[in-house]
Amino acid sequence: MIDIGANLTNQRFHADLDAVLERARQAGVCRIIVTGTSERASTEALALARRYPDYLRCTAGVHPHDASSWNEASAAAIAQLARQPEVVAVGECGLDYNRMFSPEREQLRCFEAQLALAAELQKPVFLHERDAHDAFFALLKQYRPALKGAVVHCFTGTLAQMREYLDLDCHIGITGWVCDERRGDDLREAVKHLPLDRLMIETDAPYLPPRHVRPKPAANRNEPMYLGAVLETVAAIRAQPAPALAAQVRGNTEAFFGLR
Ligand SMILES: [Zn+2]
Repeated sequence: MIDIGANLTNQRFHADLDAVLERARQAGVCRIIVTGTSERASTEALALARRYPDYLRCTAGVHPHDASSWNEASAAAIAQLARQPEVVAVGECGLDYNRMFSPEREQLRCFEAQLALAAELQKPVFLHERDAHDAFFALLKQYRPALKGAVVHCFTGTLAQMREYLDLDCHIGITGWVCDERRGDDLREAVKHLPLDRLMIETDAPYLPPRHVRPKPAANRNEPMYLGAVLETVAAIRAQPAPALAAQVRGNTEAFFGLR
């Protein structure tokens, strides 16, 4: 399995990252893509990818929460990072109208600049969308023909929204949200209808620990070692054997990010 989104630069991993990576390997995770969410986090993600070159890759981008920080200097820094061979995608970038940590206008500007960068560098985009489907879709649609690839990470929407992304030839990243029986109904319905060649999996660690894993993760911190819980839940929903699903999803991921 490959975890396409883990926030390993988060301070909650500072003390024991080696142990976290070892547990992930033991659990069958053969590669992890570290998410870059700001200029600082993207710089740290690249440093991690260089420290563990046989195991980690990363993305470089600015999350919509941090869109207010986007300026000429950060744009140049992200572009420089994104050119490095360890950086396999531009992002995470997108729109988040759920918490509105940055104003809408600044989110749109930051998102569009990163779509343009991804098109210029011909690297895929790692996308975040929350409660912003219409505006997000409109901008993505405009840029999609110029993009090498696009994955909507941590997809939590409806079947209808997923079909719109599939119409744009997007991949869909599924997290432990799918394991949450309190709020994952729409997502589980969508996952049933997701074409097998569009599916990728991720933990979004340290966030979104799968609710059913036992023993419960210490301090409720998610880790890449729990990626198997996401895979098994998706396999159960789709009534497919988990090992075959894992092989297909890994192939999708290697092709999408050029990992072979
Ligand atoms: Zn996200």
